[in-house]
Amino acid sequence: MTDPSEKSFLDLSRRGFLAAAAGSVAGAGLASSGAQAQQPENLPNIPDDAVGRPFPEADLQMPLPPDQRLGWCVVGLGAFALNHVIPAITRSQTCRLAGLVSGNAEKARRVATHYGVPDARIYDYESFDDIANDDSIDVVYIVLPNGLHAEYTIRAFEAGKHVMCEKPMANTVEECRAMIQASQEADRKLMIAYRAHFEPHNQRALRMKKEGAFGDIRLVIGDTMRPLDLSRPRDEWRVLRDLAGGGSMMDIGIYALNGTLYFLEESPVALVASISNPPDDIRFRQVEDLVTVQLRFGSGALANLSSSYTMNENRIQILGSEGTGLLNPATSYVGNTLYETGSDVGTRKVPVQDSSLRQFTGEIDHLSRAIIENFTPDTPGEMGLRDVALIRAIYASAERGSWVELNPDGTMRG
Ligand code: NDP
Repeated sequence: MTDPSEKSFLDLSRRGFLAAAAGSVAGAGLASSGAQAQQPENLPNIPDDAVGRPFPEADLQMPLPPDQRLGWCVVGLGAFALNHVIPAITRSQTCRLAGLVSGNAEKARRVATHYGVPDARIYDYESFDDIANDDSIDVVYIVLPNGLHAEYTIRAFEAGKHVMCEKPMANTVEECRAMIQASQEADRKLMIAYRAHFEPHNQRALRMKKEGAFGDIRLVIGDTMRPLDLSRPRDEWRVLRDLAGGGSMMDIGIYALNGTLYFLEESPVALVASISNPPDDIRFRQVEDLVTVQLRFGSGALANLSSSYTMNENRIQILGSEGTGLLNPATSYVGNTLYETGSDVGTRKVPVQDSSLRQFTGEIDHLSRAIIENFTPDTPGEMGLRDVALIRAIYASAERGSWVELNPDGTMRG
């Protein structure tokens, strides 16, 4: 996986800018910077009145100029879109908020006013397809309930736009396949918004694993849970099977699942799962509460994962022959923390400079860069399909009460 902070066209723009700046000062006879810089023989000759100076050696990333930024259109102005997606678009260095799609015209107008989106760029679910005629929109970010992801992703591709789709990719494997096919037919990028891949503590843990800090990974334990609260509008659709596709495993268990595969860098060959619902709880008439899963990998590694809508936990632990990495919390919006335990270090908090907040702009800038530089995003539709297939296999195993064997794409064998 590429760390967006390590290789960026923004760096290239900056280098170009620096080269131009160095060229412009060379004629003025000022010493240019460089690794091999010689000590000047004389004291610097700088006039003592106000004067322009060379571009500093700051490690700043130059944002894309406004006219080169990609226009992003957000579909579904719910809790996640308003609190995280739109603010991240405004913080990003590669895009601008170009359009809004909402079924609530008054809310959309209020949001548009705050973010400077013209009225003409506000769409609803009926006029959505008109974005095909809107050249200011390059990318559509789908932040709708899971059961609507496939329809609006496919319609966005038919309108000729690139798509960022929230997790889980869709309710079914068939929908995921149709989304990938639509992306290919339109020759447009499809990325699934797995923000943890762009979260600095998760990235650091993966780097440590690749560098051998934990030795051979034998076991991953992941528990991702949060109480489902029907007094909040954003949790209402989550108890309806058609809109949510499933319960805690679809919504938050997917973090433990996707994180496990991210750290092990392989797909499981078999799994067994169990589901338990509190009796007489209205929240769990159509979707599940507690899920436990054991996964077996070709390397011999095992994983034990759990998800729930009635407890609160967010941790992923990577256990190897030489040490243990613990992310706790692992996939929060802010404040994720990484610990390392090993025979020579005891247990220590691993210093990570960047804030967890970078995950939101990180994923957005990553897709912009994938579009501009024409590469496949690190979290493509195929990854989203694999995870949806694995969750369907988890549900099948729990229903059968037995192990299921898996294909490399996450679907069940046989
Ligand atoms: P919300 O309920 O807060 O927002 C969903 C929005 O979708 C609504 O506000 C509404 O927008 C629109 N919508 C259209 N049709 C319906 C419908 N039938 N029922 C409900 N809403 C509808 O949900 P979230 O923001 O929490 O979740 C949206 C998506 O984002 C989900 O796929 C979820 O999994 C994902 N998500 C991802 C997170 C992450 O960390 N990556 C965190 C939270 C959610 P409008 O009123 O504008 O039409």
